Amino acid sequence: MTVVQEAMPRMVSRVIPVDPFDLVIFGGTGDLARRKILPGLFRRYCAGQMPPTSRIIGAARTDLDVAGYRQMVAEAITEFSDPTPPTDKLDAFLAQVCYVAIDAKGESGWAELQQLTEGADRVEAYYFSVAPTLFGDLAERLQLWGMAGDEARIVVEKPFGRDLATAKALNGTLAKYFNEKQIYRIDHYLGKETVQNLMAVRFGNMLFEPLWNAQYVDHIQITVAETVGVGGRGEYYDKSGAMRDMVQNHLMQLLCLIAMEPPARFDPDAVRDEKLKVIRALDPVLPHHIMRGQYAAEIGNEVQQPSYREAVGDPRSKTESFIALKTHISNWRWAGTPFYMRTGKRMSARSSEITVVFKETPHSIFGEEAGKHRNVLSIRLQPNEGITLGVTIKEPGPGGMRLIDVPLDMSFAEALGGDIEQVDAYERLIMDVIRGNQTLFMRGDEVEAAWAWTDPIIHGWEARGEVPKPYDSGSDGTTDSHELMRRDGRKWREVKP
Ligand code: NAD
Repeated sequence: MTVVQEAMPRMVSRVIPVDPFDLVIFGGTGDLARRKILPGLFRRYCAGQMPPTSRIIGAARTDLDVAGYRQMVAEAITEFSDPTPPTDKLDAFLAQVCYVAIDAKGESGWAELQQLTEGADRVEAYYFSVAPTLFGDLAERLQLWGMAGDEARIVVEKPFGRDLATAKALNGTLAKYFNEKQIYRIDHYLGKETVQNLMAVRFGNMLFEPLWNAQYVDHIQITVAETVGVGGRGEYYDKSGAMRDMVQNHLMQLLCLIAMEPPARFDPDAVRDEKLKVIRALDPVLPHHIMRGQYAAEIGNEVQQPSYREAVGDPRSKTESFIALKTHISNWRWAGTPFYMRTGKRMSARSSEITVVFKETPHSIFGEEAGKHRNVLSIRLQPNEGITLGVTIKEPGPGGMRLIDVPLDMSFAEALGGDIEQVDAYERLIMDVIRGNQTLFMRGDEVEAAWAWTDPIIHGWEARGEVPKPYDSGSDGTTDSHELMRRDGRKWREVKP
């Protein structure tokens, strides 16, 4: 199927400036701020979305003055976003940046921050880009210093707890100082263009929703594969593992969006209510439906990459760097449809994809030689964000009735004129915070429900003393994860870059 370009209006993405704001970035000198938050804000500035009276206030323990911080911000932009940013734009952006050296656990810097933000008639947002152990201290001091007004917003990073008890405690602490409407729990997967496009495709067309159920869908796969290992984060990662670090948040959020009922309106609570119902309807996972692995050392020609256990410095570590599992959603729509999820480090390619595999036609009129064909809807989050639908057509030519599957590209980037600006997930989400739109942020009860499903799975393998199986670096995970599929007469999608 081809897209009739002439019939499509040429589209340029529209930029609607947000209201003037003060964004305080606690942890403004950290890795996340330098790699994502600050370069993202610069791109929004260049796009004309950030009003010139807005301010970005870095706040961290590092002893820096404003000039020193601006220098750091400029370096972060050139390193992580644009090696040659236009000087006039960069200078104007930096003029809106300032810095306060502050201690989240002590009193230094708070008076200065309060003075800086006092009386400003604008959106106030506080980004907690620090370790979660500091969230409570920050929230408490914001209130003590009169910065936690009803209109203030806080953005909190993952991990949001390490189990149900810690997530509840964290929710409880934040709730002492801020109400739920002020708390933006970030999961950057929800900020991806394709995730929103998935909702548009599902709920903006008549075509898919009638087929979006157990009667027509054979199964659904969600894969988030990384090529990197744990790197310098070994000590931190070994305390969490793939289940806590990826499945409980990113993969479950994707599962919710693919499986939820159509919300009555596209508004934050209507969407999040439906997501919550999915999590609450998830079945417990049976022990033989979970496969865990640890990557083995990679002996290349030049550099030898350490194994997972070497990288985390614990030869007896039982933490998984890979997990594959099968689960079911016990409701009318999905009863009997398996959902397979897998994620891991040091896999063959960096790729995040959701795949909806439809059932075969009930009867093939073309005979056995035509082969078996299924429609496959593939939603790619990275790299090359986009949605394709595999459709079965006749192979062109005079060779008789032979069928082939071809992808129908539903991203339509070209058809829309090629002027669509690529916006990073963090940029989009920060602008949503300023606009006061919580749709793409996790609500407290969602996070708790996700932990309530995750906890017994983790306790189960701990009680059974299970040790993750080794898998080759550069592979697609443990051999038994392929067995999980084979047993069901299915197979994983190839992990493609
Ligand atoms: P980081 O260690 O690089 O930076 C930590 C920041 O916190 C620094 O600016 C430091 O000065 C500041 N800080 C530390 N103690 C402080 C104190 N007592 N008072 C004030 N400031 C203090 O950490 P990071 O990688 O930037 O991560 C920040 C948060 O974001 C963490 O919660 C992390 O889990 C989360 N996160 C990070 C990434 C990432 O890619 N780096 C991705 C997802 C989530």
